Amino acid sequence: MDDCIFCRIVEGKIPARKVYEDEHVLAFHDIAPQAPVHVLVIPKVHVRSIMELEDEGLAGKIVTGIRNVARELNLDEKGFRVVNNMGQDGGQTVFHIHFHLLGGRTLTWPPG
Ligand code: AMP
Repeated sequence: MDDCIFCRIVEGKIPARKVYEDEHVLAFHDIAPQAPVHVLVIPKVHVRSIMELEDEGLAGKIVTGIRNVARELNLDEKGFRVVNNMGQDGGQTVFHIHFHLLGGRTLTWPPG
């Protein structure tokens, strides 16, 4: 999608600090990190939100991508958090589905 910032990152038209890439999934550092490690994991195809993520195969590939990023960044032993914001109340600001992978410090709960 032309007006989607994350599609433009996938296409290489906007720079990003990539940490992981495979055929279906891309992961890159968030531009405004909320933790020492804050990476966004996205499918390469445009899917607006978790409500439109109907391809279960793709959902599984995203989870595999998250696991691979966690291993690559050595978060798998101490742990990390995965967040998906959906819609207005969920705080979604970019309407290309993405999963925030947060780690590198002890995270508090509940979120705001
Ligand atoms: P959300 O509020 O869940 O939709 O999250 C969108 C996230 O995308 C925010 O954490 C932003 O900081 C991040 N973001 C927006 N533009 C970029 C960009 N060009 N590169 C990396 N992260 C971005």
